Amino acid sequence: MRLLVTGGAGYIGSHTCKALAASGHLPIAYDNLVYGHPWAVRWGPLEIGDLADRKRLDQVIQHYRPEGVIHFAAYAYVGESVKDPGKYYRNNVAGSLNLLEAMRDHGIPYLVFSSTCATYGVPERIPIPESHPQRPINPYGQSKLMVEQILRDFQVAHGIRSISLRYFNAAGADPDGEIGEAHDPETHLIPLVLEVAGGQRPHITVFGEDYDTPDGTCIRDYIHVTDLAQAHVLAIEALASGRPIQPAYNLGNGQGFSVKEVIATAAAVTGRQIPMQMGARRPGDPPRLVGDAGAIFRDLNWKPLYTDLAEIIQTAWRWHQKRPYFGKAKPSVS
Ligand code: UDP
Repeated sequence: MRLLVTGGAGYIGSHTCKALAASGHLPIAYDNLVYGHPWAVRWGPLEIGDLADRKRLDQVIQHYRPEGVIHFAAYAYVGESVKDPGKYYRNNVAGSLNLLEAMRDHGIPYLVFSSTCATYGVPERIPIPESHPQRPINPYGQSKLMVEQILRDFQVAHGIRSISLRYFNAAGADPDGEIGEAHDPETHLIPLVLEVAGGQRPHITVFGEDYDTPDGTCIRDYIHVTDLAQAHVLAIEALASGRPIQPAYNLGNGQGFSVKEVIATAAAVTGRQIPMQMGARRPGDPPRLVGDAGAIFRDLNWKPLYTDLAEIIQTAWRWHQKRPYFGKAKPSVS
């Protein structure tokens, strides 16, 4: 299939382009390059454009005539979304609406949407099933939930069929070392910890050790980016085949690791010291997020290949050692 991949130059988007190409599809990356990287687009064309630019979207769609869309393009910094919600609603919600209207007008019938466990808010039970109430506690999660709702309405009104994939914590890098995580600014635990291991930062700050968890630090479900990518391939193929599917699936490993466990595992994998400092809780962090991904195992035959945290961190470390800043103190980092 020819597939438009919005945000195809980003972290999960670029890994998905690679997985799509490996399954015989042509990924057409559509990215405004605000956070994406041209070097990450290697398995199909890169078309630079914004979701807000309907004319540009029309032009790209007319040129390639994609048969489906995989939609990653979004802002994804939780803290920023609290400070600047308008930016998130405009880009993530209004941008998705533009895309969906373009799909409607050009008769593109399928979409896989990059959603998040942040749509659940503070969980009532662990592991979290898809039927769990969705009460996001920040504008980022709210913006993703709004798009899930819009997708349901577009299916009824315009017949656009979609699957929302609710990711837990995406982690790791392409096992071949071709692409990996490169956010700027970096806010995620594993890459930050690896920057400490690599000598780019003096220490990692642990955001709270007074949570109601065994070691007092937050527990998350880390899922390898290549496993996430493969789920998108299965999802778009399931939509195209007309198989019965759920509107949304969780993507997680079903296993939780605390912040301190991640740091200890990274120290073992890298063989480096990782100094920690205890800090305050980060607002909006639920104590535990662990997903039940049984439904996508069952319906789409998805099975994560990377269930071992050390192996996930190992792929990230291999990528990290190839980065330009490796071994040097990063400017403006304390
Ligand atoms: N975290 C931390 N120090 C950091 C960055 C993150 O202690 O410098 C914690 C954070 O509070 C959360 C976990 O690590 O409990 C994972 O955070 P991340 O930002 O990687 O992903 P999120 O869970 O926010 O999607």
